[in-house]
Amino acid sequence: MDLYEYQGKELFRRFGIPVSDGRLATSPEEARIAAQELGGQVVVKAQVLTGGRGKAGGIKLADGPDEAESHARAILGMDINGHVVRKLWIESASDIATEYYLSLTFDRGEKKALFMLTKEGGIDIEEVAAERPEALARLHVDPLEGFQRYQARRLIYGAGIEDEGEQKQIARIAEQLYAAFIGSDAMLCEINPLIVTPDGEVKALDSKFTVDDNALYRHPDIAEMRDLDAYPPEERAARAKDVTYVKLDGEVGVLGNGAGLVMSTLDVVALAGGRPANFCDLGGGGDAQGVVDALEIITADPQVNAILFNIFGGITRCDEVARGILQALGQLTIDDPIVVRLDGTNAEEGRRLLQEAAPANLHVEPTMLEAAKRAVELAT
Ligand code: GDP
Ligand code: MN
Repeated sequence: MDLYEYQGKELFRRFGIPVSDGRLATSPEEARIAAQELGGQVVVKAQVLTGGRGKAGGIKLADGPDEAESHARAILGMDINGHVVRKLWIESASDIATEYYLSLTFDRGEKKALFMLTKEGGIDIEEVAAERPEALARLHVDPLEGFQRYQARRLIYGAGIEDEGEQKQIARIAEQLYAAFIGSDAMLCEINPLIVTPDGEVKALDSKFTVDDNALYRHPDIAEMRDLDAYPPEERAARAKDVTYVKLDGEVGVLGNGAGLVMSTLDVVALAGGRPANFCDLGGGGDAQGVVDALEIITADPQVNAILFNIFGGITRCDEVARGILQALGQLTIDDPIVVRLDGTNAEEGRRLLQEAAPANLHVEPTMLEAAKRAVELAT
């Protein structure tokens, strides 16, 4: 789960990482009040779950309440990389002497957390990594040993940070960031930019914070931060019904049992020359209600022209799944053609049930590839 900047900063604050004072605002009037309360110069910052807000015009300095209000009016409703701005973070403006970059991610290859630090902050880190890799200090942390002081020093020297005051502050911030990362079961904690003010004070000016969905049950306070409005309506409906669904932008609706099988189905649809409209995993079971819920969500997408069921029966028996599909089709009116591939335990019985009931728009295919080809054909 990705957190908004203001939520990430709230967690930073809890772990002691220095951030500026700020207020949340959802209207130009609230932005004015926030600027009044904060006093002085403020920054009006679009809160969207995507980066590059600055470049897109979603971050503006304001000299006082009047200007904060007019910037807020301009930024609210703005579209930034497909995300509509509904919330603003109004923050006391900082004077910036330099911008650094500090992050902590999970390196799956090494099975360790990975720190990255560079003096070349503020810009795309991918650019630094590609063009000046020597400027980017990288350091892995052994999960059993934890993050040690000497490692903080190595990271900071590696990045070429020479000022003693900065070194001390960044060492502490790195330790706090590690505590935040572990303590929140995060996948990513990124500070870009980590700024130094003209007075030599180091603080986090931005926050990108991603928490592992599978660990949210351990962090009810973070789970509560989820903003359902930020998800496409189909995904919101799916979440409410406990269906695992991700919207994609093709024409072939896909559903199967098991995440791995569904992912290979997306590949096979692409191989057959089509584009999947979604990812949808029925889970282990294939009970009628689960199929109805999934079909309702998939067919709510107007882009869907055909539906591909890919079922491999292991513990789930194909005849049960076939009954589930038929029962679901009895409960719903679906005009789109449906292609079914059933294989595994009791596949023959399952196929026979489908063929006997044979709704006109239902096509049974023997293999995954043939089913995908048929679905792509029918979708175009
Ligand atoms: P991003 O574009 O989504 O990464 O948003 P950031 O929060 O990183 O802000 C982008 C840029 O806006 C920063 O790199 C700064 O240069 C500038 N900026 C943000 N906050 C302030 C501030 O308080 N004072 C000043 N002077 N510039 C700021
Ligand atoms: Mn940033």
